[in-house]
Amino acid sequence: MLTPDRFAHSLNVAESAVLLAERFGGDTSKAYTAGLLHDIMKDAPKKEQLKIIEKAGIILSLGERHNQKVWHAMAGAAYIKAELGIGDPEILSAVRYHTTGRAGMSLLEKIIYIADYISKDRTYNGVEKMRRLAETSLEDAMLFGQEFTIVSLIQKGRVVHPDSVNCYNELIERKRANDTEGACGENRKNT
Ligand code: FE
Ligand code: FE
Repeated sequence: MLTPDRFAHSLNVAESAVLLAERFGGDTSKAYTAGLLHDIMKDAPKKEQLKIIEKAGIILSLGERHNQKVWHAMAGAAYIKAELGIGDPEILSAVRYHTTGRAGMSLLEKIIYIADYISKDRTYNGVEKMRRLAETSLEDAMLFGQEFTIVSLIQKGRVVHPDSVNCYNELIERKRANDTEGACGENRKNT
């Protein structure tokens, strides 16, 4: 179902996902499966993606209807459930949210989101930083990925999905809470 390039990308994402799962204590087998399948609908005609989404009973918001970029993630999750018989909710939601992210992401969701950004075939400006962050912290890599995506969408005059905004806000709030905690610790040490 994929072009040769997309297939190569999918294999690379699966490989990166396994590395991240090993590094951060995730399930390597689920990581491989979700990585391999995450873009399964991306090369399908938009009409077909929409049909699969509708058949799965998903009602698109007006914003989603106009945001074709997110269709392949929704259609992909629906397709692997209905046609490939994948019932694992963790794999399904990792595919479902790999494009936008969301607030309250699971470990596997983060692994797939980040693996998609650091796979071997990626060359965008910032990929080295993203890879470096992913060496030590899923949260820092997630935040960098969301910042990068949201900023580039805005620069191109494109819509930003609310799930991405909610994800970003959650990451920022958590980071601020951690920083304050760190600072209080420092203060305690000084007094
Ligand atoms: Fe994708
Ligand atoms: Fe991808």
